[in-house]
Amino acid sequence: MARRFYDGDADLAVLKDQVVAVIGYGNQGRSQALNMRDSGLDVIVGNRGDSYYEQAIADGMTPHSIAEATAQGDILLFLMPDEVQPEVYQEHMADRIKDGACLIFGHGYNIFYETIRPPDAVDVAMVAPKMIGEGVRRRFESGEGFPTLVAVEQDATGNAWARTLAVAKAIGGTRIGAWESTFEEETVTDLFAEQVGGGSSLAATLNTFETLVEAGYDPEVVQLELYGSGEMVEVVRSVREYGLLDSLKLHSPTSQYGQLSRARRLVPTEAKETLNVILDEIRSGAFAEEWAKEREADYSNMERLRAEFGEHLLFEVERKVREALERKPDQTDE
Ligand code: NDP
Repeated sequence: MARRFYDGDADLAVLKDQVVAVIGYGNQGRSQALNMRDSGLDVIVGNRGDSYYEQAIADGMTPHSIAEATAQGDILLFLMPDEVQPEVYQEHMADRIKDGACLIFGHGYNIFYETIRPPDAVDVAMVAPKMIGEGVRRRFESGEGFPTLVAVEQDATGNAWARTLAVAKAIGGTRIGAWESTFEEETVTDLFAEQVGGGSSLAATLNTFETLVEAGYDPEVVQLELYGSGEMVEVVRSVREYGLLDSLKLHSPTSQYGQLSRARRLVPTEAKETLNVILDEIRSGAFAEEWAKEREADYSNMERLRAEFGEHLLFEVERKVREALERKPDQTDE
């Protein structure tokens, strides 16, 4: 079983007198920087001079160029999109990282796929919140915390674990538990869960919508049933609270029976063959190669796919339902 770490296992004192440089001030960068500052750490920001840079100033941070922040940082949190990291690292960071610094990633991607190769004299670690950036800040402020995966790939200083856990604690990631993992495990499970979970849910939603609308039912009613009403938000919340199976008890017996008796018919066990193909693409690096080419091509396939999906009738209906739900009670149809 993986080790689990809590607040009591981490000591912020190991970061005393250390400069923590957050490279990238986006979803994760901003939230983690604010949390660490609130935890009493000396935080600086490295970013290009654009709107995120201005945001850092507005938040009272001290932004620098990426190169300058790298040169100053004892602890470096590299928090920009994974597909741009290798280029930024090579151009602005590789020659400036101090010996004995600790380079921390928010995702195992570039170390697992060896697209970034840090020098031997540097600690290499991962603090990967299992939470979107906005939730990292909100749940820090509320005191709730969020689960995190932590790993050390290279312990050059002998202090890498202590520093990694201290950073995890400072962002709020050891409040409810930080699981020990590896760069490989975090990368593969994260990519697989988002591709299979997110991808199949998108496909299932479109298939369900098409089937009911082709059978003659009102598209707006169907969209409301599927996700427009917001009921799904409550369902996901209850899954987290009670577990996947026990949360079913909050549904009517008719619904419970319908779900349990149809689940395996909809996604039969044989579908695992496809899942294994997708898993192989991730583990072998084939997906990472495809994604790197996509970035080189200015995300042209992604834009095409987004446009193709965007033409689906569901999204026109979605707009109408959202407008209707935002309407005040005293407003009537024109
Ligand atoms: P964002 O897309 O929010 O990162 C934006 C930041 O990256 C901005 O500071 C932006 O600055 C900078 N940036 C983007 N492109 C470039 C470039 N070409 N050159 C220089 N700077 C650039 O990233 P996330 O916060 O979503 O992700 C950061 C890391 O956290 C990733 O490793 C991700 O896998 C991980 N992670 C993300 C989660 C999430 O929910 N988002 C969850 C857990 C981990 P500029 O304005 O200059 O473009």
